[in-house]
Amino acid sequence: MAHIPPYEETDRLIRLLGVTKTYTQPGKYDIRILDDITLDIHSGEFVALLGPSGSGKSTLLRIITGLSRPSYGTVLYRGHPVTGPNPQAAMVFQSFALYPWLTILQNVELGLVAKGEARSLRREKSLKLVDLIGLSGYEDAFPKELSGGMRQRVGFARALAVDPELLCMDEPFSALDFLTAENLRSELLDLWLESKIPTRAILLVTHGIEEAVFMADRIIILSKNPARITADLSVPLPYPRNRKSQEFIDLVDSVYKIVTGRNDEQEALPPKTGDELNAPRDRVRLAPIPYGHVSMVSGLLELVADRGNRDDLYRLGSELFLEVDDLLPVTETAELFHLAEVKEGDLTLTGLGQQFADADVSERKRIIREQLKDVPLFNLIERVLRNKTNHAMPKEFFNDILEEHFSVAEAERQLTTAINWGRFAELFHYDPDSELVYLSPDQKTPDENGSDSYKKSE
Ligand code: ADP
Ligand code: MG
Repeated sequence: MAHIPPYEETDRLIRLLGVTKTYTQPGKYDIRILDDITLDIHSGEFVALLGPSGSGKSTLLRIITGLSRPSYGTVLYRGHPVTGPNPQAAMVFQSFALYPWLTILQNVELGLVAKGEARSLRREKSLKLVDLIGLSGYEDAFPKELSGGMRQRVGFARALAVDPELLCMDEPFSALDFLTAENLRSELLDLWLESKIPTRAILLVTHGIEEAVFMADRIIILSKNPARITADLSVPLPYPRNRKSQEFIDLVDSVYKIVTGRNDEQEALPPKTGDELNAPRDRVRLAPIPYGHVSMVSGLLELVADRGNRDDLYRLGSELFLEVDDLLPVTETAELFHLAEVKEGDLTLTGLGQQFADADVSERKRIIREQLKDVPLFNLIERVLRNKTNHAMPKEFFNDILEEHFSVAEAERQLTTAINWGRFAELFHYDPDSELVYLSPDQKTPDENGSDSYKKSE
């Protein structure tokens, strides 16, 4: 293992300077995932990296651990440039990532093999860890014989086996049921707080606000498209934390406000530091639309209308059993259509939103149809369809256009969402058999109505 000489800055483990990551799609635009991330992580810190799905948390974690390189910017570990997988960092994945053909003990030992430790030492160390993490008796079992929670214990033991200075975890609790997750969280905290493991710092990637506030002493909040640091807060609550205490609830609420905040909060970024990097700006991108589904937006508006047209987002989220990650696209969609406004963690219906909540289906369709006219993505689809004599176009065609602006997966999500709203508004339709998107009869110029030429028989 590479020996890392003591530096005067021993306290600072990670330093990121202007880290930017773009993906190049062959023959297409660059897509910027991470933008100018500057960040230090010190020994003794338990840091939560909080951001919505698809914001780039895993990408950032991979860069920090040296599994992936930034497109621009610098990554230092104890003052040394990171140029490959960092032997001082270990990773726990959401998906457990165990080898099915190896026993539990062999899976745990694996990290030590890579580290070149002697066989007898490996065995001794792994047995200790298996015990520490609550798996004694399962040494010779295979992963498929274990429950999800136990498999994740193996994931932890394997990461801890190498005595990492930096323990990185990528949503390690999100595949587990609530109780199992809660147990593991507490046990991990216990190992950390009681110094039962030699880990110097922990970096937890999560999209759960409560999880971040429960576990970490510092929370870094990432925005999306591209990911930037919008806040960096310390969590001053003593351990063990009580989720029901007023301080806990208040803190969750204030993080909620930041996460659901608008761009004016994003202006309050720390001043840019670090190298002057000449990361080129990307070309103009089609504005992405949020993924709120018609039925969710309607449901939310009705609920808020019932509450006097205004309610606390955090409360709405917990009543609807929605994580902020799932709630945000819904509120963002309501905002895009000028049906609601989000401010300081509260959602308030606009006049139009109140009208929508009271309206019958055909009136709702009319309202949305009006609003869609101002959204560039719908404009584009409608314009293309209108200009075709048969008013139909393969879905693939729109995929291709969107892939100029978004990653393949994001393009697909954008188009699916657009089609969902376009159908609701009866602006255009999609036929899954022929995979054609076509303009609704009502949307054609009057003299064309009655013609069948746009139908899928084309
Ligand atoms: P998170 O972990 O926050 O959910 P990720 O870091 O996995 O987000 O991904 C961030 C964005 O980067 C997503 O939009 C994803 O589609 C995109 N992305 C990730 N890896 C690649 C890749 N190899 N090529 C193109 N886009 C990618
Ligand atoms: Mg991820």
